[in-house]
Amino acid sequence: MNSSVETKCIHEGWKPKNGEPRELPIYQSTTFKYDSSDDMGKLFDLEAEGYFYTRLQNPTNDMVAAKICAMEGGCAAMLTSSGQAANFYAMFNICENGDHFIASSSIYGGTYNLFGVTMKKMGIECTFVDQNLSEEELEKYFKPNTKAVFGETITNPTVSVLDIEKFARVAHKHGVPLIVDNTFATPVNCRPFEWGADIVTHSTTKYMDGHAVSVGGCIVDSGNFDWMAHKEKFPGLTTPDESYHGITYAERFGKGAYITKATAQLMRDFGSIQSPQNAFYLNLGLESLAVRMERHCANALAVAKFLKANDKVAWVHYADLEDDEYHEMAKKYLPKGSCGVLSFAIKGGRANAIAFMDSLKFASIVTHVADAKTCLLHPASHTHRQMSEEQLLEAGVSPDLIRLSVGIENVEDIIADLQQALDQI
Ligand SMILES: *Cc1c(COP(=O)(O)O)cnc(C)c1O
Repeated sequence: MNSSVETKCIHEGWKPKNGEPRELPIYQSTTFKYDSSDDMGKLFDLEAEGYFYTRLQNPTNDMVAAKICAMEGGCAAMLTSSGQAANFYAMFNICENGDHFIASSSIYGGTYNLFGVTMKKMGIECTFVDQNLSEEELEKYFKPNTKAVFGETITNPTVSVLDIEKFARVAHKHGVPLIVDNTFATPVNCRPFEWGADIVTHSTTKYMDGHAVSVGGCIVDSGNFDWMAHKEKFPGLTTPDESYHGITYAERFGKGAYITKATAQLMRDFGSIQSPQNAFYLNLGLESLAVRMERHCANALAVAKFLKANDKVAWVHYADLEDDEYHEMAKKYLPKGSCGVLSFAIKGGRANAIAFMDSLKFASIVTHVADAKTCLLHPASHTHRQMSEEQLLEAGVSPDLIRLSVGIENVEDIIADLQQALDQI
């Protein structure tokens, strides 16, 4: 269907045939029945397509993955139990013990830990780089065993915009894919494949679900990266898989190779499946995503301007502000608006930041971000607590930074709440 992303949000995925339910059914079943043992055997050999056990695949999940895939303009997708699982699978699907990859140092704290600490224990090394380095400087970080480059379209929580084309060019020059976490922008505001990214990941927990009811993730493959052209770098895709009777994914599945391997191998062995019930909630969220993003962006811009004009506020970062350092990048990659999240600081340091946050009426202090309700958090005291002062600075998270996730309430009410809390300090 050659329609706009707003229409895809609603009509892609589940497409009922004559007499079938209008709304996406929840296949609340762990298992699927077959008439003969031969029918079932073919599924296990990946010779026929079909469902056999929900740890690997479930029809409800697949319909929702297909919708996100269409919205991103990809060729194959899978849901995962969380954004963390999505980023882990996306990377582990092509990196093995002894491999290396490069990631922006400004990424989400959870991903920073996963890449820098947990994956290191698996023998996979990550080098974190300043995403604003020039192409020449970035190239210095590539090694013979580098297998991927990773960044976030809009970083959480510093809301910096990634120069996707620059990252893609450097990655491709070194024969590796670019993986982009598109959580904050969503495919409504940016589709990284259009700028050269090869794989996109999401924490669907954020805007996609949109109502803070279900944790989830998604991986989408563009199908554009030619694994066979870099055969020696990606043996997991280009040589026989002994756990699947010698199937070579890139030969057998072509553009579907990456997602087929992540499903058949990683989901089989690690089992981070999304529950069909949660996938149903996610699908509801997706139906209104385009409308909500428009409102989130309009409200956030008004709030950013309000904060910027207040003399108790030290600084505001929001790429849609004309004098923001990322404004030119945002105009290029996010012409419809960036997202509802901004970061700012209150003069007088940590104590004033805490006093301000504790005085808010409906804007609540929660770990979450990117849902309908305005909420905020002080990363240095909360999400990034485990990081050293040095790591915080490397990630661009100054100790006074407050992450504000602007919701879809009436914007005058949001501003009034912020105003009365600022008046308390
Ligand atoms: C929240 C988040 C994640 C992790 O997702 P979960 O669903 O919480 O596991 C990954 N990347 C970004 C950009 C996020 O905001």
